[in-house]
Amino acid sequence: MAKVIVIDPGHGGLDPGAVGNGLQEKDVTLAIAQRASYFLRQYGADVRLTRAGDRTFSTDKHADLNARAEFANNAQAAYFVSIHINAGGGSGFESYVMTGMADEEAGRRQNIMHREVAEAFEKAGLPDRGKKTANFAVLRLTNMPAILLECGFIDRDEDATLLRNRTFIDSIAEAIARGAAKAMGIFSSPLVDNPSPNQPQVISKYYKDITPGMEWAAASVDKLFERGIMRGDGQGNFRPFDKMTRLEAAVALNHAIEYVLKQLGR
Ligand SMILES: [Zn+2]
Repeated sequence: MAKVIVIDPGHGGLDPGAVGNGLQEKDVTLAIAQRASYFLRQYGADVRLTRAGDRTFSTDKHADLNARAEFANNAQAAYFVSIHINAGGGSGFESYVMTGMADEEAGRRQNIMHREVAEAFEKAGLPDRGKKTANFAVLRLTNMPAILLECGFIDRDEDATLLRNRTFIDSIAEAIARGAAKAMGIFSSPLVDNPSPNQPQVISKYYKDITPGMEWAAASVDKLFERGIMRGDGQGNFRPFDKMTRLEAAVALNHAIEYVLKQLGR
């Protein structure tokens, strides 16, 4: 039976997490988690995400973190990887395991995972802030080895520019997948049909940046194109994690209303 790994994209729904430079933590963590799960499946892992869309288990922060840990415990996961984006003055990557190191295996895996992901950040010119410990709820409440990754600072220009870049997101996601596979002892040469991370497989009829992991939204994105309600940038990109301005919202809403009126014959 394939080993279960739970990937936890931090925040979601009404909780955006950290914000800065037009980005919200909840969107970036989901993008990284979706691509990491795609790469991890290449190693034969049974990957489960605590959330696949813009939502949480609960609007109560404590209940939500509890539910994320419980999700992993119920899945009898072999590893729990929580993905977050930092803020508050700084740059680069750091990783956390539970304070006290009661779980030696978590520390051993942190060494492996940290090396892979820090290297991907350093290649892009962002520093390695080191391996740390903290008493985070998701680390404390999960009963398997667990790690929390703080992937760059959303409120620093250089970090945010990279977090907006699909190639960078893919390089981080691939490093997380490789690190987790090595830590769990399922690492092998990627499958032959593993597409290059720089050329993600496309699952949309119209956009090259709608890629595996976004299946839950791809059909809606294509339908909006076909109905003339929302378009991309004219160069084949939808820019799935860009924010919408009020002007863009007004145009899209008006297109939608016109479409409906036309269907009604008015
Ligand atoms: Zn966070």
